[in-house]
Amino acid sequence: RSNPNDLSAFWMPFTANRQFKQNPRMFVAAEGMFYKTADGRDVLDGTAGLWCCNAGHKRPRIVEAIQAQAAELDYAPAFQMGHPKAFELATRLRDLAPEPFDHVFFTNSGSESVETALKIAIAYQRAIGQGTRTRLIGRERGYHGVNFGGVSVGGIVNNRKYFGALLTGVDHLPHTHLPDQNAFTRGQPEHGAYLAEDLERIVALHGPETVAAVIVEPMAGSTGVLMPPKGYLEKLREICTKHGILLIFDEVITGFGRLGSSFAAEHFGVMPDMITTAKGLTNGVIPMGAVLATGAIHDAFMQGPEHMIELFHGYTYSGNPIASAAGLATLETYREEGLFQRAADMAGYWEDGLHSLADCPHVIDIRNMGLIGAVELEPIAGEPTKRAFQAFLDCYEKGVLIRTTGDIIAMSPPLIIEKAHIDQLFGTLRDVLMHLD
Ligand code: PMP
Repeated sequence: RSNPNDLSAFWMPFTANRQFKQNPRMFVAAEGMFYKTADGRDVLDGTAGLWCCNAGHKRPRIVEAIQAQAAELDYAPAFQMGHPKAFELATRLRDLAPEPFDHVFFTNSGSESVETALKIAIAYQRAIGQGTRTRLIGRERGYHGVNFGGVSVGGIVNNRKYFGALLTGVDHLPHTHLPDQNAFTRGQPEHGAYLAEDLERIVALHGPETVAAVIVEPMAGSTGVLMPPKGYLEKLREICTKHGILLIFDEVITGFGRLGSSFAAEHFGVMPDMITTAKGLTNGVIPMGAVLATGAIHDAFMQGPEHMIELFHGYTYSGNPIASAAGLATLETYREEGLFQRAADMAGYWEDGLHSLADCPHVIDIRNMGLIGAVELEPIAGEPTKRAFQAFLDCYEKGVLIRTTGDIIAMSPPLIIEKAHIDQLFGTLRDVLMHLD
């Protein structure tokens, strides 16, 4: 039982885990832009872990903050009690967020942020006398975590079809990703706001008085880096406002500099009513998420009418001291090193490098924005995912970490990335794609 090479006990949260266990790829250390493997190799992190280590790995300020906090105050109850760092972090987040977001609710993950925001949306509607509004609208190919609310509003049928009763009254907008129209588009594709009219159609179908909220990733990340067409988010905002529906942006990936601004809401100039975050909030080091909400929503949720006073919502680890210390050190690292601006400054070099892969075999689409990008490959008939997964394995062997979803290769490096790393990443990927079956 104590054999260190026995990999059978850990039930890995990874669909290809059988393949992994036959050929384990273990990281044992990390620093800056690189992971160190169990066999002593350096692997360039082209994905910021799982889209989360935006400041790179083992950053001294963050490590020291965690160590110091653990030595000082390990835990404080989240209800009726507090500790200064949670308040400080909430204040810093408020300063960072676009203006209407002046309240922060802490969670422990992206999935929890989503569940929390969905509950707040329905509670808010009830608190303002709109108790019939319980319906939620998500989007095809949207990813909102793996809990019941998140898979219900999420647009990945395989993630929800085995679970029987999910949230009732959920509907989905069609996704706007049309590969043949997007092909090799830099930034946002053109094909316009009319796609958002689908929301009008869905709202009319159900009746606006039944709809609490619409949740979308402003730029869908983990299902393949799918850009919103120009005018799309603006139109969603307009329709939601017109019908008294809350708009939630799930910014678990796009938050904290990925697109070159603090949040995608700012990048696109469209303000939702709530923003869900996690990942980059603590640089991926310690589990923590946050829901950002406007004052109106906070007040209705927290000080709603009498009949909701008995409502309880909160997590044991909301604003945990060590996570709060990590969050503060992370935000300070972003600020001190100007990392969001750096993402904006490097975006052009990133874009050119990515698009230089357009002549590689099998490449059918390339998409990018800020420091995120995707290369979509033509699937092998009858074997979807095989080609991109092979590219992932080959890149790993050559010292570069990429991520795949279906036959889409996704990349989202730490924002500290240098031009030489970008050259290494795309040079290796070119080499791999050139030799792929
Ligand atoms: N929402 C989005 C947009 C995400 O990308 C993710 C994670 N990839 C989640 C929610 C879920 O986050 P977590 O895995 O921390 O629960």
